Amino acid sequence: MLGGGQLGRMTALAAAQLGYRVHLFSPRADCPASQVCDIRTVADYYDAEAIARFAQAVDVVTLEFENVPAIATQLASQYAPMRPSADVLQTTQNRLREKRFLEAAGIACTPFASVSTPAELAAAVDRVGTPAVLKTCDSGYDGKGQAVVRSADQADAAWNRLDQLPAIYEGWVEYQRELSLLVARSPSGEIAFHGPIANDHVDHILDVAMFPLAELEPLWDEVRDVGRTIVERLELVGICCVEFFLTGNGRLLVNEIAPRPHNSGHLTIEACRTSQFEQQVRAVCGLPLGSTELVSPAAMANLLGDLWQTDEPNWQAALTEGDVRLHLYGKTEARPGRKMGHLTVLADSAPKAARIARQARERLDPSEVAASSQRSTEPKLTREN
Ligand code: AMP
Repeated sequence: MLGGGQLGRMTALAAAQLGYRVHLFSPRADCPASQVCDIRTVADYYDAEAIARFAQAVDVVTLEFENVPAIATQLASQYAPMRPSADVLQTTQNRLREKRFLEAAGIACTPFASVSTPAELAAAVDRVGTPAVLKTCDSGYDGKGQAVVRSADQADAAWNRLDQLPAIYEGWVEYQRELSLLVARSPSGEIAFHGPIANDHVDHILDVAMFPLAELEPLWDEVRDVGRTIVERLELVGICCVEFFLTGNGRLLVNEIAPRPHNSGHLTIEACRTSQFEQQVRAVCGLPLGSTELVSPAAMANLLGDLWQTDEPNWQAALTEGDVRLHLYGKTEARPGRKMGHLTVLADSAPKAARIARQARERLDPSEVAASSQRSTEPKLTREN
């Protein structure tokens, strides 16, 4: 596995359950996945010798981080099957190539224009209008490498903030919901879906994901048809996440494709018979795909480093009530906005699970602990369930 973050950690745990031994290639020794893998290569992705040695030592190569440099995945493919392939990564690593792929496949996506010169920026503002968002073509995630353009006179400053890197200028979508679909495809072409999952973001970062929402059921077939078209056209092997905006007037627009497990799919560990991580392992290793049947409606709340800013979170409080499952990624440094872990809650409906997950997360907040001990002489607050 190339990449050692939390997605790699949870994939490695699923692989271990199936009896596989995972060889991790990561530029950092102390990363979430390294704590749970069998063999580790710590080297730079541009270290051709290290990549070649690694790929010669394994049966199949996968990744958990889609921005692994193309040169590494191309080289690895010479020694072992690379799943997803270097070609898939070539398309999905770059926002412009990804949008052009979607257009060519006849899939509705957000209106966009390519920007690599000041003249193209001016033309993009004219054609797409405002508000809009400039996104660098390469290496963006969680709102990084993005700048909002509220009116035409802000466009130059926004692009300067992105160091005038090649970008796409994307129309702002007034969406009613963000959705994601996980699509797994095996080497023999078998396909399985998790979702569509409903996602709430805060500051461009996923905050809470829930599944299933009754109001989205009429859209399932359409969402899944788009997902099937994408993985078949890409000839993708492995799991990928397709993110959608559902607009105010009910149109589905693809926002982006991530050719790996996804934060919104973490709830599948408890909510589905086969998790997104096990599905990834099965697809990549050429096993039959697992059942994605729902065990229970569920919600997941992310735990960001902000929670650690005053003290260690109050784990006791979060875990005493309800069926709250805690996942921590073993990261030693908690920075604001950094994904440190998540909570998953199962309940008889997804909105109820989301409410319980948010409340459990509030109880984790150490500043909340200090505030409630000051209130200890006051009548006890009862929390809504
Ligand atoms: P991305 O990295 O493209 O997934 O963007 C991160 C988040 O920013 C998305 O999940 C949305 O919440 C928001 N966002 C990105 N692009 C747009 C857009 N064109 N219109 C509205 N919101 C957007």
